[in-house]
Amino acid sequence: MLSDAQEKRLAELLPKLREVRHDIHQHPEIGFAEERTQALVRTWLKDHGYAPRDSAKTGLIADLGEGARTIALRADMDCLPMQEETPLPYKSVHAGLAHKCGHDGHTTILMGVAAMLPTLGLKGRVRLLFQPSEENINGSGGKAMVEEGALDGVDEVYGLHNWPAYDKGEVRVCAGPIMAQVHSYSITITGVGGHGSQPQLCRDPIVAGAHLVTALQTVVSRGLGYEGGAVLSVGSFHAGKASNVIPGAAELTGTIRSFQPAVTERVLERLHEVCAGVASTFGVTVVPEVVPGFPVLVNDASCAETVHRVAERVVGKGKHSEEDLPMAGGEDFAYMAATVPGAYFFLGAKKPGESTPVCHHPDFDFDDDLIETGVRMMLGIVADRLA
Ligand SMILES: [Zn+2]
Ligand SMILES: [Zn+2]
Repeated sequence: MLSDAQEKRLAELLPKLREVRHDIHQHPEIGFAEERTQALVRTWLKDHGYAPRDSAKTGLIADLGEGARTIALRADMDCLPMQEETPLPYKSVHAGLAHKCGHDGHTTILMGVAAMLPTLGLKGRVRLLFQPSEENINGSGGKAMVEEGALDGVDEVYGLHNWPAYDKGEVRVCAGPIMAQVHSYSITITGVGGHGSQPQLCRDPIVAGAHLVTALQTVVSRGLGYEGGAVLSVGSFHAGKASNVIPGAAELTGTIRSFQPAVTERVLERLHEVCAGVASTFGVTVVPEVVPGFPVLVNDASCAETVHRVAERVVGKGKHSEEDLPMAGGEDFAYMAATVPGAYFFLGAKKPGESTPVCHHPDFDFDDDLIETGVRMMLGIVADRLA
């Protein structure tokens, strides 16, 4: 709980933080190019008495306090390669770039935490991690920061994400797997092309591909038991250019999400079997290529319990749960939670009676009311762990 003086300080800070959030929103930057955002955060940290150092090219690390224990808090900073169509007064001025996942809000929350921390009288050390490139357009900033030693000497790490599919005012967190392992795949089908009037002389990759798309639907539904635990989606299917030509090749791409190594192994095994079966049925070659992405994001049980305990005070009893978790999204906080015990949690953002646009939707915008909730949650976690 904050003292009266700390409450006053937070109340003064919040309007300024809204301005900061709108400024970051207006100037979105893609992964590993967050130079303006980095400069803005660096100046803010220096103004509040920190000595930040650069990390993972466009990220920042700042420590405060001394002591036996170190608690790290992480925010992501990058935007998405999307055009801002939403008529906001602080609409993106960068063509083809927009903060449609709310990382502008996450960065602002951690800046607010940075401004409040010196008033807490810490009995340990807090490390603030401003991470670049979470959307993985140019690689993972979370992985890069871990590899550069950002978590050396850290006891626990915490991160959050706004989530408009969950009711505003709620905190959601669970122990164990909370977000999925992500694999992307591409499948190349090579047949024999020719004249559209002479199928008997061809090996049609479109027909083979159509059967492959259908057969892939059985990888999860027939390959796993009632407990399931995986998603396999086809995201693209390209073949041919002319109405009277049977093309020589077709290409499919897609994504696989899973939460357990054994399930992942089974899905990949069935994927390869289905590809081989379609190849022999239609006399084509089918070559799948699977590229592993983020690992499963696994919350430490005790850290998840900490988030529940703090949420009980910040958002109230009955407003924190494990409902609908784990979810099949991917998140590179997974690299951090795999390195030291940690917890990742969601702040609900769905307004009552509205269909609030979800993250990555063209009309998504971070809800500024979550700045206060996020700052209170992070401060609560620090106070709890360094008490
Ligand atoms: Zn995103
Ligand atoms: Zn995000």
